[in-house]
Amino acid sequence: MALVVISSKFRGAKVNVAILEIRTIGDDVLRQVAEPVRKVNAQIKTLVSDMFETMYASDGVGLAAPQVGVGKRLFVIDVGDHEPFALINPVLVKGWEPVLDQEGCLSVPGVYMPVTRFKRVLFKGRNIQDRAVTIEASALLARALQHELDHLDGKIFVHLVEDKLTLEQELAEMRRRLNNKQKAAVTGA
Ligand code: ZN
Repeated sequence: MALVVISSKFRGAKVNVAILEIRTIGDDVLRQVAEPVRKVNAQIKTLVSDMFETMYASDGVGLAAPQVGVGKRLFVIDVGDHEPFALINPVLVKGWEPVLDQEGCLSVPGVYMPVTRFKRVLFKGRNIQDRAVTIEASALLARALQHELDHLDGKIFVHLVEDKLTLEQELAEMRRRLNNKQKAAVTGA
């Protein structure tokens, strides 16, 4: 699964982290309901480090474990105006004010479509230190939390898009782009 192993500074300590392969729409793992994390052990911490690195390498603001082929209930988020964090076994407690806004996903590269999400949310879960946390969020952070939680339930944002006709065209273009990239990789172009 690991494509490249690089050395990087993570939380002050020099550790080896891996850039993982991001699964794209059509991959079965993205349609499965992920399993709860029983214990935040060393394996989970390594996964979280690798997911952060993978997300940054792809210029994403959020990444859920199923997107790197791991069916566990956790995701990482860095929307820029908030400390980067991992949320484990997340639960949406409450949401307010549904709003329509543009959304994208590293598993649906290059496709941006409007979907409805709560503008404000209350989430609970566990952090990387295995402590119970609650998160009150609004705007982009609230949207990212809801988007990533959906991944843990086998859902992708495109399932919420109402304009199915435009969506189909966008997905067809995305598939063409991915095919060309694959061909280029095979021929070494
Ligand atoms: Zn996504």
